[in-house]
Formats: sequence, structure tokens, C-alpha cells
Amino acid sequence: MRTLLGGLRQYPVVIATLATGAVGAVLEVTGQPVAARWTVSAFVVVVALLQLRGMVADLRAGSYGIDLLAVTAIGSAVAVGEYWAALVVCLMLTGGEALEDVAAGRARRELTGLLENAPRTAHRRDGDGLTDVPVDAVAVGDLLLVRPYEVVPVDAVLESAAATLDESSLTGEPLPVDRDRGEVLLSGAVNGGEAIDVRAAATAAESQYQRIVELVREAQESKAPFVRLADRVAVPFTVGALALAVAAWLLSGNPARVAEVLVVATPCPLIIAAPVAFMGGMSRSARNGIIVKSSGTLEQLARLRTVAFDKTGTLTYGEPRVTAVHAEGSGRRELLTLAAAVEQYSSHPLAAAVVDAARSGGATVPSAADVIEVPANGVRGTVDARAVVVGSARFVARETGTEPPRPPEGHTAVHVAVDGRYAGYVALADEMRVETPATMAALHRAGVRSTMMLTGDGEHVARHIARQAGIDDVRAELLPQDKVDAVRTAAARPTMMVGDGVNDAPVLAAADVGVAMGARGSSAASESADVVITVDDLARSARAVHIGRRTMRVAWQAIGIGVVMSVALMLVAAAGMLPALVGAWLQEVVDLSCILWALLAMRPSRAERAEAGLLAAAASASRDRRGRADLRSDAPLVAGAG
Ligand code: ADP
Ligand code: MG
Repeated sequence: MRTLLGGLRQYPVVIATLATGAVGAVLEVTGQPVAARWTVSAFVVVVALLQLRGMVADLRAGSYGIDLLAVTAIGSAVAVGEYWAALVVCLMLTGGEALEDVAAGRARRELTGLLENAPRTAHRRDGDGLTDVPVDAVAVGDLLLVRPYEVVPVDAVLESAAATLDESSLTGEPLPVDRDRGEVLLSGAVNGGEAIDVRAAATAAESQYQRIVELVREAQESKAPFVRLADRVAVPFTVGALALAVAAWLLSGNPARVAEVLVVATPCPLIIAAPVAFMGGMSRSARNGIIVKSSGTLEQLARLRTVAFDKTGTLTYGEPRVTAVHAEGSGRRELLTLAAAVEQYSSHPLAAAVVDAARSGGATVPSAADVIEVPANGVRGTVDARAVVVGSARFVARETGTEPPRPPEGHTAVHVAVDGRYAGYVALADEMRVETPATMAALHRAGVRSTMMLTGDGEHVARHIARQAGIDDVRAELLPQDKVDAVRTAAARPTMMVGDGVNDAPVLAAADVGVAMGARGSSAASESADVVITVDDLARSARAVHIGRRTMRVAWQAIGIGVVMSVALMLVAAAGMLPALVGAWLQEVVDLSCILWALLAMRPSRAERAEAGLLAAAASASRDRRGRADLRSDAPLVAGAG
């Protein structure tokens, strides 16, 4: 009760309405109905006038006021002496805002929960002792104790032999996961029943959970207006209600009918249902590791027609491994070393793989001078007075004037030119994610017409992967600008672009819905994206679409329920069978019903649960396999190099 009163303090007009009701009731009971009528009527007229003023401002700003109905309902009720009914409508009008806040708060609970559960302190082992320090004071390399059921404070490597963790706040997967010594635990995961030792692998600010929290905070603060879904229904609804009220009056000859019809013509479902559903949808997404930044995005997700994917790191794991080296003249080992010498200055995933391979035999990679990276093309530099150019076929062909040979099926080639002559290539393979084909299928089932691959890589690899993935439309050898153009000119819209956040900020921004995937993505990409997926799982992109569709469906259902109930009551009232005061209370019931319905957007539908099952199977298969892959020795062996 106290919190209710405390909460009410934020809504002075609601308090005034209740106070007026109390005064009016006392007057009625003490036998002064005229005074009661004047008091209540005067109050509701003032509220109606204030509302009218707001409406005129709205109209000037170009959006019409749906509240016209409420104002005419109050006016007509006062005119025919139904001042109590007018006061109830008033309560709805002023209390609607409070109700919306309560419902939205409920729908937002997961988002807020995420913020509140952020780890604040860590137990640091100093020699034999244990010190509690704020998480921000944890340095990389600190040895930390995580007690049973505590939250892992920062991303850390497990030092104890084994641990069981609940990662549901990060991934949405309810089942606990087992981790062995040496594996990375993400901050935000909740420890199981045994205390464990971990070694900090990142500072708090750089850790997974804190980055998610940062995104959620941004999403909450972005004051993107809620889509006024109902605007499309508002005009016919208002006109229809007013026409019915007048018709009922004319047919019955009784002016009270106007008030009786209008008090049940409640606009509340049209105003509140959609925002509550959207809040619920965003909350549900967050629980699934999908941060949706605005409600407009949910609406777009529901209508998606084209989905484009970046290849490397998105459809594939983005961890290419060198499988072969092909040298034209000199030795393969030398070619690999020369390529690595310039690649060590690049942050491209291909570059990292080339450098790893070169170092795998214990060889030292010489340094290079004058290194220049041409994004989406390759790198050039000088090694031991030789001009070395590495990169895509096109980039190297421009250097040598000849078309380089093709790498084996399904492989990406990093071509190498030395002193202007073609020298050979390093072939790399990047495995497709196991969940990729299931994700494409799920997207098609959700109404997506076309799936596209946009990649800077060569045509052949691109087609090879697209065939396995089940992607219809392949665009290869694209520069970043070409990717932007491809998304802008897509035939079927809206479009979604899913990228891993490496070099794809522009194309994420160009798409109607940009999705940045995985924890690896750069913050630039996270900023230009509309959706950030916080787990390394492509299937979440399809789940985001499903949540968008569910949210829209629930929003429209809630509006439909409200409108149908309201119209039914209006017809009963028009026939003269619904006293104004009863009607005024019934419209509150209508409002509540549709808000409760809108809250369903927080939960998946039955069909969606089945769909989620299919995707989760693919995703967990993916994780298992990754787990094993990570345990393998990480230095790839160069087939026959040397
Ligand atoms: P993707 O679209 O697959 O993410 P990018 O746009 O990053 O690819 O790069 C396009 C192509 O340019 C790569 O497939 C590769 O052939 C070449 N390339 C870019 N940077 C490098 C580099 N540092 N080393 C070798 N090749 C590179
Ligand atoms: Mg990329």
C-alpha cells in the first residue's frame, strides 16, 4: 500500500481525480447532490480542457489526438448530468499513464534485472589472504575466488579443475554448462555449488557481461518513440464511435445515449497495448542474448523479406586455418614466411592464420617495412628489400598483370606477389557454422523470401559455402561500398544484414535492421547495429525475427480485443441497455484486458517453442563441437610446407 501511494505521488492528476471523487461522495451522502454535481463536473471539465489543449498541440505537430473520444465522452456525460461516469472516464484518462508505466515496468523486468545483477565486487587472492575489491579494480592476471552461486565478476580463465555454471543471463540457455581447467568463463555466468578459483582475463569494462549491460543501458536510454501502431486504426475508430453516438441519439431521441455510447468507446487499447507488447518483446529478446535497441526494430523484424549475411565470422566460424601452400618458384616455407612478414601488421582473420602457420614450425617471421593495408584487398610491404604484396586475387592481379590460379574447392587463397611477379598462394579453410543451414531454413519459415551472402572473398569459396548453407543469392569479391549498395538495392524489403562486426559497420547501418553478432564484434559495429547478439550463435538472428513477429502479432491482437470489446459495448449502449456509470467501469475492464494480453509478448508461442527447439539443437551441437575444437592444439600444421 505504501509503495502504491508512493507511486501515485508521481501522478498528481490521478490523486486530484480520486480526491474529487471522495469530496463528491461525501456531498452525495450528506444530501447535497447539487453541490456534488457541480464539484465533480467542474473538475472533469477542467481535466477535459487541459486534455484538449494538449490535443491541439498534437494536431499542430501533425499527429491527431486519439483522446478526442475521451474528451467528448466527458463533455457529453457532464452535459446529460452523468458526472460520476465522467469522473470514471477521467480516471481512465489520467490513470492510463500510470497503468502504462506499471505494465511497461513489468515488461521491462528482465532488462532491469540484467542491470541490477551486474557484479560489483570480486574476492582477490593476495598471497594467503583474500581481499574484496570493486570489480573495476580487478587487473588482468589477478587470481580471484568465486564462491558458490556468485556471479563471475570479470571474464576469466578457470584455475580449478572443473566448474558448473549457469550462463542463462548471457545466453538464455537454462541448462548449466560444465567447464574444465583452462577454459574461459564469461562474466555474468553464475557459479554452481562449489567455490572456484579463476584468473582474470579481462578488466571489468572489457568483460562480456559489462558490455551487454552497457548495450542494454543504451537501448533503454535511447528515447526512440514507440511505434504508434494504433494510429492506423484510430481515425476510423473515432469517426465510427462518434457517428454511432449521434445515430443512437437521433434514433432514440434521448441525448443521454451520446454519453452512454462514448464512455465505452475507450481509446486506451489503441494507446497502451502496443508499447507494452513492444517492451515485452524487447525484454524477451534480452533474455535470449539479443539486445534490440528500439521498438521500431521489432516491427521491421516482423516484416523482413531479405536477409544478407557476411561470410567470414558470420556464416563461418571466422577462424580460418592454413591447409596448404602453393609456391610457383621458390620454396613453400619461404613463401609462407614472406606472406607472414607483411601480414603480421594486419588484424584481418586471414592474416592471423597466415602468421600462426608461419610460426608453427618455430620459424621466426622477419619484420617488414613500409607496410600499407588496403582494407578488403590485402597488404603490401617491403621484406629484406623485396616488395611483397598479399591479398585477394584481384588485388594481386593488379600487381602482377596475370590472373592467379584457383585454390582447391572450398578454400580461400591469400595470393602473394614478390617484386611484381606472382609467387603463389596460401590456401585457407574456414569451417561453416553447424547452425547455419538450420538458421536459413528457420528464416524462410518466418517469411523471409531471399537470403544473400555478401563477401569480399572469391566467387568459388563463396558459392561452395552458399550451397552448403542453402543461401540463394551470392555476391562475391565485394568491397565494403559494394556491400552497402547490395543491401540498399535489395529487391524485397525490409532488409536485415547480419555481420560479425569486423569491418562491417557501414553495411550494418545501411540495412533496415543491422545485426552485429558475437562478443567479438568491434564497438563501432555494435553502435551502428540495431540489434546486438551477445552470444556466438548465428541461430539467434532467426530467433530475433521470430520474436519480432510474435510481438507484432500480440500487439495487434491486444488492439483487436480492445476494439472488438469496445465496439460490442458501444452497440449495447446505443440500444439503451448500458447505463453510463456501468459503461464507464466496463471500459476500465476492457483496458485492463488488452494490457494483460499485450504482456503475452514476453512469452513464446507454442509454435515458436517448437522452432526454438530445432534451433537450439543445432546451436548446442555447434557449441559442443567448438568445445572440442578449442582443446586441440591451436597451431595449425602446414601440409607439406617447406
Ligand atoms: P569478408 O567479406 O569475407 O569479411 P573482407 O572484406 O574483410 O572479407 O576482405 C575481402 C578479401 O580481401 C578477403 O577475402 C581476402 O581475399 C582479401 N584480404 C583483405 N585483407 C586481407 C589481408 N590482411 N590479408 C590477406 N587478404 C586480405
Ligand atoms: Mg568480415
